[in-house]
Amino acid sequence: MYTCADCKILACVSGTKDTMPKNCPMRQSTLMEKAFANYAQEENSRFYITSSSIEAAGYCQWPRLKETMEFCKRMQYKKIGIAFCLGLQKEAHIVAGLLRREGLTVVSVICKTGGYPKEAAGIPAECKIHPEEFETMCNPIAQAAFLNEQQTNFNIALGLCVGHDSLFYKYSKAPVTTLVAKDRVLAHNPCGAIYCADGYFEDRLK
Ligand code: SF4
Repeated sequence: MYTCADCKILACVSGTKDTMPKNCPMRQSTLMEKAFANYAQEENSRFYITSSSIEAAGYCQWPRLKETMEFCKRMQYKKIGIAFCLGLQKEAHIVAGLLRREGLTVVSVICKTGGYPKEAAGIPAECKIHPEEFETMCNPIAQAAFLNEQQTNFNIALGLCVGHDSLFYKYSKAPVTTLVAKDRVLAHNPCGAIYCADGYFEDRLK
C-alpha cells in the first residue's frame, strides 16, 4: 500500500531515490515505467507540455480561471463545453462570456437538464432535501452526452456535486478540468474545512 500523503522523506521531490521508503511507489519500476511511457504518446505529450507551460507562465500570478482560458487558447481548442450546476448559473454565464471573448465557441449544459424528478432515478424520499416537494434530479450523464454530441474539444466542470462530478468525468468523451469544486458551506473553497480540520471544523467533520 502506498502512503505518499504521510511521507516525510519526499525522495521523489529531491531526486534522491536511494532514500525512498520501503513502500514507495517508485520501487515498482515496471509499473512506473509503463505509466511514464504514456507521456510520449502524441495526444498526451502536447497536452502535458501545454499544461506545464501554463504553470510556468502564470505561476502565482494567474488565477485558475485565467489558467483555464489560457490552456484552451494554447491548445487551440475551438469548442469548449461547460457542465455547470444550477446554483452557479450566474458564474457559468460569466465564464462562457470570457471564453467567447477569447474567440472560443462555448456550449453549456445545466445539471437539471431533462427535468426528471429525483424519483425517476430511484432516489428515495429520505434522500431528498424536501421529501414532500418536487425536486429535479441532477443529470450529469446527460450533461456529458450533450457535450459529446456537440463534439466539444474540452470540457469544464463548474460546481457539480460530489459524485455527480464523477459521473460527468466518466461519461465525458473530451478531457475535463474542474474550474469550481462545489462547497455550499465554504463559498466553493473546500480547503477551508481542511485548514480548520483540527480546529473550528473539527466537530463538523465527524
Ligand atoms: S513517491 Fe516515495 S518518496 Fe515520494 S512521497 Fe511517495 S513514498 Fe515518499
